[in-house]
This record gives sequence, structure tokens and C-alpha cells, in this order.
Amino acid sequence: MNERYSRQILFPEIGKAGQEKLLSSRAVIIGCGALGASHSEMLSRAGVGHLKIVDRDFVEFTNLQRQTLFKESDAADRLPKAIAAKMRIAEINSGTEVEAIVADVNQSNVEQIIHDADLVIDGTDNFQVRYLLNDACVKLGKTWIYGAAVSSYGTTMTIIPGETPCLRCIFEEMPDAGSSPTCDTAGVIMPIIASISSVQIAEAIKLLVGDRDALHGSLMQIDIWQNDWRKIKLSAPSPDCPACGLHRYDFLDAESPEFAAVLCGRDAVQIAPPTGTTIDLAAFREKVAHLGDVKRNDYLVRFTSGNNEITVFRDGRAIVKGTDDIAVARSLYARYIGA
Ligand SMILES: [Zn+2]
Repeated sequence: MNERYSRQILFPEIGKAGQEKLLSSRAVIIGCGALGASHSEMLSRAGVGHLKIVDRDFVEFTNLQRQTLFKESDAADRLPKAIAAKMRIAEINSGTEVEAIVADVNQSNVEQIIHDADLVIDGTDNFQVRYLLNDACVKLGKTWIYGAAVSSYGTTMTIIPGETPCLRCIFEEMPDAGSSPTCDTAGVIMPIIASISSVQIAEAIKLLVGDRDALHGSLMQIDIWQNDWRKIKLSAPSPDCPACGLHRYDFLDAESPEFAAVLCGRDAVQIAPPTGTTIDLAAFREKVAHLGDVKRNDYLVRFTSGNNEITVFRDGRAIVKGTDDIAVARSLYARYIGA
């Protein structure tokens, strides 16, 4: 242990005691795209003992330009990102125990996912999940580190419920779907991912070793192309905040999760059946074999129908590519998987 982590132990703010804390820490990473992949790699190299990595999607070639954990064979095999991350981390640091969860984070599972976390780190690409995560973390008193990046611009903030403003203190209402640029509409460059992830993980390590005085205490915004770095100082949590002030968890308590959701900017729709559904992938593959071009791995089956590529996961979810029309995706789901 001393040799592997010797350079980090020499850093006095971590030291031997801090390293011991990292080794026994549990971090949850929600979303394993570009930010989440970078978080996972840095935390495992730092020696965090247990990582829970949750992601609903599979690796594609368009990810490889910035999603550092993944390689060409992962995209060719269409491995779920959580699984590909776990396999890669096993090669990087066999001392890190990784729990890979291939699932959509929603009202029905978010509290269970984070309940045993020392820390929750945002690697998602959408505000729907972030507001849900904010509710769950405030409710359970879990510290979480918000981070987002698109184009050359990114933002991050560390949220300690009861001590610092939460996401809803700062942005009370969720931005309208489609109102913000996404990586699929505005593009994104790797350096902003690395920058935002670095700030998030530096904060994570400070928290895990117990050096709270070193936290940046701001809403940090970086534009790596315009060379603009700014810190907006945060005040106290707002007593009128629905989440951390009034303890009203609008996103957590919302009606049951949307059955269908457009994956913003991806020309794809996700259809999610109720939690607890499972699909026998081998049998399903036989069922759609006549369609041709059917691919299967241990986690999913992918096939095409006309211009749509449909990927079905073991938990019954499907991602329908080639449309942003929920009705089209639902009818394809009903046709091949069932209502
Ligand atoms: Zn708040």
C-alpha cells in the first residue's frame, strides 16, 4: 500500500491517515459518461476502496474522444458503460471494489443506490436526474458534488446538505428540457471534461480525508477555450428552498417515473418499464432473430427495425435510436417487447 500510494501519502494534506480513509471509503458515481468515467478512474487510482458506478447506457464510438475509460472493443461489443468501467478499473487497481449497476436512476431506486455512500458524485448529463439526486441527497443527508460540462464550458458545486446551498437553492426550477445545449447538440471537448472532473474529484478527496477547510465553497464556472475561470461565492442555504429549507422533495415524490423519455439531443428515446421487470435476453434474441443484424452480449440485445436501432437491456429498458418521437418509440417497444 505504501509503495503504490507513496506520492499521495507524501502530500501532507492526505498523508498516511488520509490514505487509510480513502481505502475504506465508499463513493457512488451517478452516470458513467465522460465525467463519470474520469471520476471513476481518478478515484480508483487514488485508492478509494469501493465505487458504485451507475449508468443506463452502452459505449458508442462517439464516446471514445472523451470517455477515458473506454476503448474501441467496448464500443464494438456495445458493452454497458458501467460494466466496461468495472472491467477497466479491475485492470487499473485491483484493490478497488466496483459495483456496476446498469440501470436508469429514478424515483424508485435513487435512495437505495446512495444509502450507503460516503459521497455521491455527479456524472450525469441531464437535469432531471440531478434534481432527483439533489432531493435524495438532501433527504438522506449525503454530500454530493454537482458537475456539468458541454462545449468548452463547465460548472461544478459541492453540496453539503444543511451547510451549503443545494442545487435548488441556486436554481430553484429545473431548466426546460431542450433549453440547454447538450454534448450532442453543441459538442464537447475533452479538456473541459478533465477540468471539471478534476475539480470534482479534488473536492471528493478533500471530503473523504476530512479537509473541509480546503473546499472551494463556490459555484465554479470554467470556460477552457475562452480562458475564463470564475468562482461565485455561495451564501448560506436558503430557508425558502423547497428541498433543503422546507424538506419538500418534489422530484423524489413526483408521480411514478416517466415510462418514456427523449434522450436529449441523441435522437433516441428510452422506454423504461416498471422496476422489477426482467427480460430473458437469450429467449428475446430468438424472438427477434428473423429481423437480421441482431447482436447480443451478456447485458443487452440490439437489433434494427427500419431506420431504428433498438437496444433492449436485461431490466426491460429499451433505447430506440433514430427517433425523438415518443409515440414512435412506444409503438416499436410494444411491437417487439410488449406493452
Ligand atoms: Zn436548498
